[in-house]
Amino acid sequence: MKRALLFFLALSLCFSSVLLPAKAEGYQKYSRVELGIFDTEITLIGYCRSQQEFNEIADGAMAHLKELNRIFDAYNSYAGLNNLWYINRYADDAPVEVPSPLFDLLLWCKEKWDEGWRQNNIALGAVLSIWHDYRTAGLDHPQTASLPPMEELQAAYLHTDFDQVILDTEKQTVYFADPEISLDIGAVAKGYAADLVGDYLEEKMPSFLLSLGGNIRAGISPQDGRVNWGVSIQDPDDPAGMLDVLYLHSLSVVTSGDYWRYYVVDGKRYHHIIDPDTLMPADYIQAVTVVCESGALADYLTTALFVMPYEEGRALIDSLSGVEALWSLKDGTIYMTDGLAAMTRSHGASSRE
Ligand code: AMP
Ligand code: MG
Repeated sequence: MKRALLFFLALSLCFSSVLLPAKAEGYQKYSRVELGIFDTEITLIGYCRSQQEFNEIADGAMAHLKELNRIFDAYNSYAGLNNLWYINRYADDAPVEVPSPLFDLLLWCKEKWDEGWRQNNIALGAVLSIWHDYRTAGLDHPQTASLPPMEELQAAYLHTDFDQVILDTEKQTVYFADPEISLDIGAVAKGYAADLVGDYLEEKMPSFLLSLGGNIRAGISPQDGRVNWGVSIQDPDDPAGMLDVLYLHSLSVVTSGDYWRYYVVDGKRYHHIIDPDTLMPADYIQAVTVVCESGALADYLTTALFVMPYEEGRALIDSLSGVEALWSLKDGTIYMTDGLAAMTRSHGASSRE
């Protein structure tokens, strides 16, 4: 019996030395931080053989992100580029041909919509732009900050049916059958971009961590002998503090929270994720983190889960394989799936039920 145990221990040690990544000789950790792309702080960490090699790869990643930022930009036009601003301006006149990353993203969202996912609706632009204008005015002039009139929101809501956005996969065109519809891809664009740039990095520098604000994509294990990257989850009550740390590799981590973007009216905070049922900021949870392979799906899901009661969101996550989540409720309760608890530094002890 004892011998069998010893054999088992020897075997598992042997396995763990096979499974644990060896420290890769000659690799060093490098990092780059850039501001101004996707309106957020971009951090890239990676293991490379030299600073020069890292610089070239990081330059490539940032150039790719800048180009995606231009294509996904809803507020600015660029000569010769049929970006999101261009679609919103001209796709009601005639079908507009758009670059692949944007067309593919729209198609991906349309497929989700057709599957019946309605909480995250990228065709909610008419409503979201009203909130955007009131929030911007409220941040510029806090003394006169006000809420959008409900009649105005309801009138805009009549023009938010994603079925009125016609995507032609052969010609790669977008056409608005409803001229007043407009697209807002804020709920998924960063996760989608992190995937595209992540694919490039996987080829050039597979051991990397890329962070676009609340969107993180982790490559294979760090090349310093550790199995996992550590990714901290902010404490929604004190975003400078930390709720827990997730240990993972080859996965995406995305968080949506009511503390990211908001303005204050009569002492009350109004954040940026709008519930299509009430046309007001969603009032169910404080923050939600999703972990899965695809950054686009993680980003899409965080926004969708934010607009659902915890129980409904939990049922949705439990129905999906390879997707884990953590919810912070407003009363301080923290729920997490077992798979996510297993990734935490606290082994799930930070859940507060
Ligand atoms: P996220 O931080 O990923 O949850 O995305 C929030 C952004 O998505 C907002 O700033 C809006 O641009 C957009 N958005 C807000 N509410 C919704 C919604 N219900 N469906 C789709 N997009 C939304
Ligand atoms: Mg999102």
